[in-house]
Amino acid sequence: MFKKLEELQQYIQDNEIKMVDFKVITLNGRWRHLAIPVERLNERTFTDGIGFDGSSYGYSKIEESDMRFIPDITTAFIDPYCGVKTISMIANIHTIGKKEGRFSGDPRYLVEKANKYLNNLGIADEYMIAPEFEFYIFDKVNFGVENHHQEVFIDSYEAPWNSNSKEDNKGYKAPFQASYHLALPYDVNNDLRSEMTLKLLQMGIDVKYHHHEVGSAGQHEIEVELGNMVSMADNTMIAKYVIKNEALKHDKSATFMPKPLYGEAGSGMHVHMLLRKNGQNLFYDADGYSGLSQEALYFIGGILKHSKALLAFTNPSTNSYKRLIPGFEAPVSVCFATGNRSAVIRVPGYVRNPEEKRFEFRSSDATCNPYIAYSAMLMAGIDGIVNKIDPTKEGYGPFDVNVFDLPKEEQDKIEALPKSLEEALEELKKDYQFLLEGGVFDKDFIDNWIHKKYEKEIKKIMPVPTPLEFQLY
Ligand code: GLN
Ligand code: MG
Ligand code: MG
Ligand code: MG
Repeated sequence: MFKKLEELQQYIQDNEIKMVDFKVITLNGRWRHLAIPVERLNERTFTDGIGFDGSSYGYSKIEESDMRFIPDITTAFIDPYCGVKTISMIANIHTIGKKEGRFSGDPRYLVEKANKYLNNLGIADEYMIAPEFEFYIFDKVNFGVENHHQEVFIDSYEAPWNSNSKEDNKGYKAPFQASYHLALPYDVNNDLRSEMTLKLLQMGIDVKYHHHEVGSAGQHEIEVELGNMVSMADNTMIAKYVIKNEALKHDKSATFMPKPLYGEAGSGMHVHMLLRKNGQNLFYDADGYSGLSQEALYFIGGILKHSKALLAFTNPSTNSYKRLIPGFEAPVSVCFATGNRSAVIRVPGYVRNPEEKRFEFRSSDATCNPYIAYSAMLMAGIDGIVNKIDPTKEGYGPFDVNVFDLPKEEQDKIEALPKSLEEALEELKKDYQFLLEGGVFDKDFIDNWIHKKYEKEIKKIMPVPTPLEFQLY
C-alpha cells in the first residue's frame, strides 16, 4: 500500500507502468473510470483532482453538476484487466464552487461518516462485514427480442445462455434447481471460479471459498472473509470488477442481476456483520440466544424495524423484487431466526469461533451501491442499540421453524418485506430519520435517490409490455 506520491512514482518507474487510472463510483453503484499517462501524475493530482460532470453520475442537478474527483493513494492497485500496464486508484468526490470540499453525497464519504458516527457514540471501533457474492455465468447473452421469451424456459438449463449446457458437455447436465455444491464434471466453471479467486487473493481480498450455487443454469458463489466496512465497500467494487472481467477473459459473462431467469434461484448478496470493540466481538455471548449478545439483538431489532425502508438501498432495482419471493431461499419476512432462510436475518448456526459470532442480512443484492447499503444497515443497527429495540419483544421472532408451517394467525402477524421497488421507496419516504442521525445522510441525498429511482427506473420500466403480458392478454 502506498502513502506518499514518491513511493507510488518509484513503483511506477520500477515496474514500467504506463497509465494511471481513476475509478469513481456512480450513485447507482457502478464504477466509471478515466486514465491519464503516468507523466501527468503529480502533486496536483491529489490536490486539484480532475473535473467531471457529476450529473452524468446521478449526483446533482444540471446547474451544479461541476464536480471533481481526487484519488485516494492508499487504494492503488495494478489493474489486471488493462492490457497496457496500468495502476488504478479509487477516487473521492469533491464539490466545486462556493463550498469546496468533500461532497456530502459521495458514497465513499457516507461510509466514512457512518463509521465515525459509530466511533463517536462509543458503541464500537469497527463494523465488520462479509458479503457473499452470488452470480450467474452465461455463455452467450443476447437480450434481443428472442431472449425476452425466457418465461417459457422453466427448464432453463436448455437455454442458449446456459454456461452449464455447453454443446460439448457430453450430456453432463446440471440438475434443475438442485446444483448447490455441484461437483465436476457438471461444475464446468470450477476453474473459472478458481481463477477469479486467485485474482481476488492477489488483490488483497481474502476469499473464504467458492462453489456452485443452487441455480442449474450456471449459478455460482464466492464468499469473502470479514473486513472493516470502510475497506469492504471498496473491496465489494473490486470483487465485482474481478468476477465480471475474469468471466469476459474466458469468453463468458457474469451477472449479479438478482433474478435473471424465471424459475431458477435468484442471486443475493447476503451481508454478515458484527461489531468489534477493543478487539472483542460485541455480538458474542455464550449464554445469549444462538450465542448472540444483547447488543447483537438490539442491532437486529434496529435492522428489522427499518428493514422495509432499508430495502430501498439494499434492493434498489425493480428486478430485486422478482427475487424476494417464497421458494428460492430468498427472504420474504421481517423476522429473525437461526436456521430459517426465509427470515431476513439469519444466525448461521455453524459459527463456532466466538470472535466470528454474527448474523447475516439476507435481503441485499448486488444491484445496491455497497457504500450506501452498508452505511444504511449500520445506521439502522445503531438506532437499534441506541433505542434498545429488542426484536424478541417486537414480534420479530426468533422463528426457528419454517414460517410457512406456522398456524395462519401466527403467520399473519409476521410482516412481509416490500414487494416492489416502489413500495420500498414509499417506506423510505416515511422512515428516514434514523439515516440523518449524526449528519451521516442528508435529506437532499435521500430525496434525490427516490427521485432518480422513480424517474430513471420505475417510470421507464412500468410502461413496457412484457412477453408474459402478451401471453396473458
Ligand atoms: N440464492 C439465495 C438468495 O437469493 C440464497 C441461497 C443460499 O445461499 N443458500 O438469497
Ligand atoms: Mg454463501
Ligand atoms: Mg448462497
Ligand atoms: Mg448466506
